[in-house]
Amino acid sequence: MKTAAILNKNQLSKDDITHLLMLQDEHEIELLYKKADEVRKKYCGDEVHLRGIIEFSNYCEQDCLYCGLRKSNNKLKRYRMSVDEILSSAKAIHDTGIRTIVLQSGEDIYFGSEEIRDIIKSIKTKFNTAVTLSLGERSFEDYKMWKDAGADRYLLKHETANVKLYSMYHQAQSLRDRIGHLLYLKKLGYQIGSGNLIGLPFQTIEDIAEDLLLCRELDVDMASISPFIPSPYTPYKHHQSPALTDTLKTIASARIVLKDAHIPATAALSALDEKGRERGLRVGANVVMPNFTPAPYKAYYEIYPNKYLTTEDPVKRTLRITAMIESLGRRISASQGDSLKQKVLA
Ligand code: SAM
Ligand code: SF4
Repeated sequence: MKTAAILNKNQLSKDDITHLLMLQDEHEIELLYKKADEVRKKYCGDEVHLRGIIEFSNYCEQDCLYCGLRKSNNKLKRYRMSVDEILSSAKAIHDTGIRTIVLQSGEDIYFGSEEIRDIIKSIKTKFNTAVTLSLGERSFEDYKMWKDAGADRYLLKHETANVKLYSMYHQAQSLRDRIGHLLYLKKLGYQIGSGNLIGLPFQTIEDIAEDLLLCRELDVDMASISPFIPSPYTPYKHHQSPALTDTLKTIASARIVLKDAHIPATAALSALDEKGRERGLRVGANVVMPNFTPAPYKAYYEIYPNKYLTTEDPVKRTLRITAMIESLGRRISASQGDSLKQKVLA
């Protein structure tokens, strides 16, 4: 009864979200999923947006306790793609019909401000695509230069809204700074993406409810909600991933709380479960990010071990993802998939 009443509310409180995240009864969980799917349909429609991702460097200055790319991991083979390799992956994404290119890396200042600016300019000149950057925290001057060069979006997850846990996981960084960066990016006109990890060591359900509230407060254009996957050679290698159901309940609750924000069915979801992406799309997600990082680099971008990692060519993999999406009665968007803020479909 309480669950049905919460699902009918327009604005959910922290207690409401906590209640949804704690659901155990299968029938009530199904009610949550059904509501999330209805909200997705109302605010986002049946289109699924594809974003092609290029992981161009796995060097990182940071030491996030949960991440396999952390600088203390000296077992990882490091790489940087050349500008030509980045542009040829961008071409492969564009040729596949995908209209967003995501440039992602560790925090790697070897790629200087001007070099990133020139890569953005080349992509925007050659191809008709949106450009999303996911390069970690950089200087405010860099963000401005890259916006002026044509970058459209910036993905910088807050990871956890718990101040103490944030400082524990990221010893050289603070939650306050992270939020400051997100607000500045928004002020510059970027569409911003944030989000969190689910199942981090010491995190509580209330912390996850706060994560969703922070995304709402920041009015994010995109929220990436993904499960923590333990990574060898990190301090958290012996901790467990969350159950798929806990992840799906969070995605579904995020859809209800955030309404029109883009929500991806992340790669981590498919690392957790072979059908993870499909399940995510059924409970509120409306974005998929096919990986276009070429071999041999892709295998070295080992944030966490991916038991379903394939050597399949990115174009073939995208076709397989497209078929899966269409089998759900959804269709692939032909647009750049900009922010849906304020746009309610009839
Ligand atoms: N360095 C940039 C940053 O941190 O924003 C972009 C690359 S980073 C690898 C991208 C995302 O990977 C992070 O936002 C984090 O949420 C996620 N990640 C890191 N370690 C993870 C793990 N063990 N399990 C799941 N996701 C993880
Ligand atoms: Fe570096 Fe990003 Fe991994 Fe942190 S999450 S160690 S910033 S790649």
